[in-house]
Amino acid sequence: MNVKEFVQYRKGVLKDEAASFAKPPKLCIIQANDNPASDAYIRGKLKDSDELGYLSELWKFEPTITQEELLTKIEEANNDPSIDGLIVQLPLPSHIDEAAVKNAVAPEKDVDGFHPMTTFDPCTPKGICDYLAHEGFPFKGKNAVVLGRSNIVGKPMAHMLLKNDCNVTVLHSKTTPEDRKFYIEHADLIVVAIGRMHYLDSSYKYKDSAYVVDVGINRGEDGRLHGDAEPGLPVKLQTPVPGGVGLLTRLALMENLLIAKKNRE
Ligand code: NAD
Repeated sequence: MNVKEFVQYRKGVLKDEAASFAKPPKLCIIQANDNPASDAYIRGKLKDSDELGYLSELWKFEPTITQEELLTKIEEANNDPSIDGLIVQLPLPSHIDEAAVKNAVAPEKDVDGFHPMTTFDPCTPKGICDYLAHEGFPFKGKNAVVLGRSNIVGKPMAHMLLKNDCNVTVLHSKTTPEDRKFYIEHADLIVVAIGRMHYLDSSYKYKDSAYVVDVGINRGEDGRLHGDAEPGLPVKLQTPVPGGVGLLTRLALMENLLIAKKNRE
C-alpha cells in the first residue's frame, strides 16, 4: 500500500472506532504566532479531525501574549474535561520559553508527545513506524540509519527505532563521506531528515531490500516540494515527497488523539 492508501485505510478505522463513544474525541490547538506555515499546518489538523468526525477547537492568541498568560490558557485546557488532546503549535514567540510550555501540557493530553513524562509517541516517528510495520518492515535486529540528529526529527526517530529493536546509527553533518557510504550501503532502513534536496542519490549502492523514508521538505527552483532523497532509488520501498511523511505525521496525531480519548474513558 502506498502512503496515501495507508492513510485513507487508517482514517476509516479511526472514524469507525470513534463512533463507539458517546462523544467523539476532541482536540484543542493553542496557537500564539501569526506564522503562515503554522496556519497551514493547523488547517490540516482541523480538516483531519473534521473528516474523522472528531471535534476540534483552535485557541489563537496574539504573539504578544505573555508566558504567564499562555501558561494560564494551557492550564485551562488541561482542566477542561471536554478536551482529550491538547497541542501547542510551534514556533512560539521568542520571549516564551518553549520547554516551560511543553512541560505545562498535561501528559495525559499531550498528543504531540513532547512532555518529558508523556505516554504518547511523537507524531513524525510514530507515523513512520506505523507505516513501516504495516508494510512488513521487520525492525528486530535490522540496520537502521537515521540521517540528521535534530531534536525534532532525527533524535526521536532514532529513539523509536531503538525501541523497535533496530540497530540504530545516527549520521550527521560531521560524519565522514566514507563512513556515510559504508552505513548507507549496509542499511536495511534509511530515514533521511536533513533538509537538503535529493541528498540521498543514486551514487550510493543500496540493498535492494532497503526501505527509504524521506522526511525532507525542500522548495526546489521549480517552486515545487522535493524530498531529501532522489525519487526512484533502486530499493524495496521509498516514501514520496509530497504525499509521504507529512501525511503520516498528520495521521499519527489523530491516532494519538483516539488513544487519549480511550485512556480517559
Ligand atoms: P534541522 O535543520 O534541524 O536538522 C538537520 C540535521 O541534518 C542536523 O542534525 C544536521 O546535523 C544534519 N545534517 C546536515 N547536513 C548533513 C549532511 N551532509 N549529512 C548528514 N547529516 C546532515 O532539520 P529538521 O527540523 O530535523 O528537518 C529536517 C527536514 O525534515 C527538513 O527538510 C524539514 O522541512 C523536514 N521535516 C518534515 C516533517 C514532516 O512531517 N514531513 C517534520 C519535520 C521536519
